[in-house]
Amino acid sequence: MSTGKQYGRCPTCNKRFEWDSESPWRPFCSERCRLIDLGEWLDEGHRIPDKTPGKPFLPPEDDDTY
Ligand SMILES: [Zn+2]
Repeated sequence: MSTGKQYGRCPTCNKRFEWDSESPWRPFCSERCRLIDLGEWLDEGHRIPDKTPGKPFLPPEDDDTY
């Protein structure tokens, strides 16, 4: 009953397309859409805010309670 063909929706261009089990760009409709999605991913990754204030870590070694 399996025909090997499925329909999916491309996450990038939101287009319905037919894929088969050997489609190299799953779940995207094409290499282009896959690269676009990958590019956005990488872009997001580069935009991770890395602005933690440079607060020096002080070890509690001058604790003179005893
Ligand atoms: Zn697409």
